[in-house]
Amino acid sequence: MVGTQQRYWLQTLGCPKNRVDSDKLAGLLVADGFEPARSAAEAELVVLNTCAFIEEARQESIEAILELDRQRAHGSRLVVTGCLAERYGDELAAALPEVDLVAGFGVPLAPRPVSVALRSGSSRGVPSFDLLELPRPAARAPWAYLKAAEGCDRSCGFCAIPSFRGAQRSRGLQDLVAEAESLASGPNGIKELVVVAQDLASYGRDRSTRRVRRLAGEAAPGIVDLLDALKGLVERIRLLYIYPSSLNDHLVEAVLATGVPYFDLSLQHVSRPLLARMRRWGEGERFLDRIGRIRELEPDATFRSSFIVGYPGETEEDHDRLLQFLVEAQLDWAGFFPFSMEDGTLAATLGDQVDRALAMERLREASELQDRITAERRDRLVGRRLRVLVDAPGVGRTVHEAPEIDGIVRIPKELEVGSLCDLEIVQSLGVDLLGAASARSLHGVGVPAS
Ligand code: SF4
Repeated sequence: MVGTQQRYWLQTLGCPKNRVDSDKLAGLLVADGFEPARSAAEAELVVLNTCAFIEEARQESIEAILELDRQRAHGSRLVVTGCLAERYGDELAAALPEVDLVAGFGVPLAPRPVSVALRSGSSRGVPSFDLLELPRPAARAPWAYLKAAEGCDRSCGFCAIPSFRGAQRSRGLQDLVAEAESLASGPNGIKELVVVAQDLASYGRDRSTRRVRRLAGEAAPGIVDLLDALKGLVERIRLLYIYPSSLNDHLVEAVLATGVPYFDLSLQHVSRPLLARMRRWGEGERFLDRIGRIRELEPDATFRSSFIVGYPGETEEDHDRLLQFLVEAQLDWAGFFPFSMEDGTLAATLGDQVDRALAMERLREASELQDRITAERRDRLVGRRLRVLVDAPGVGRTVHEAPEIDGIVRIPKELEVGSLCDLEIVQSLGVDLLGAASARSLHGVGVPAS
């Protein structure tokens, strides 16, 4: 039996999906009688939820393990979980004797033994578990991630995620709705749900096998059904990571109907031959056409994407196409990543590897160009009156900014956290905006005109 004095410290690296896992892990630990510690030094159980997406992330994870080991109290347990643990479990356990337990996850096993394993920390090895269906504690901000599925059924040439996160496993629609309801309920309920998955638009496809369709006569609910079911529970629903071929008219309509016209398209590149080498769908012209048609329906639509530069075989011509695309697409936000060779991927076997210095030069060029475009897109919002969700004192977001990855709106500190306010955008400051409280809060305190 765990006493109420047991405290945990949980640190999270990596993407939003990892944040949800950490929330669930925290919920499990609290249910087991743990309470959060104020620092790693005060905890009996120190957990690091790692990332292993690319080399840089792995390095950061290793450094964080060593730093936590330095900070933690004598006699405490240090547990490493997340993608690094799943991908390099045994190797990691052997290389880092300071770690008491390496706990990978990604396959659906019962959650309870994991909690027991985390508590005891007695066995080295790699117990696997799936966090999807675990309860989670109340959100600490007026928004929260909702993880719709784990794993991925695609086989992009550069990506090792399917090898350690497994095939896609979508959660049931009702479970997701119940989790969203619990996050939204109560006086401090969230106002914005950010729905995430590795391949979000494919939500439900794994639950809809031909056999199921034959027996039940219909497909399992998909992403559009999920959006419909979540609508009305919170003011904002935002989708992150949509594979471009999945963005059909039906899904566009459903996204626009939520009132958050935000499209996070993971494009990765625009050159057709290079995308083929990546084993991915599409090309720049088709992407531009889709973006253009969405803008015709909703001129205020916001677009985000991410791109890899220096993928094996990327030529100067491919890179020029990418730059030209950025100019034409006028995306609001974009992230650029240098190619990272991952063990076990197709890309690791390809010839024509791009020189690292050249890849970094291309990355700099693309980032600088996009920074200018982003700044111009932000300038266009100046003078508008926009609805802002107050995330923290002095920090808000309109529908044009996703939490943690895009810019913010700097707002008067007196606006109540969790309230929605109509503000005047008076200035752009690079990626951020400055909002003036010239209107009343919609669901919070009254705000004097400035
Ligand atoms: S869709 Fe995303 S997670 Fe799936 S293989 Fe491609 S890059 Fe990896």
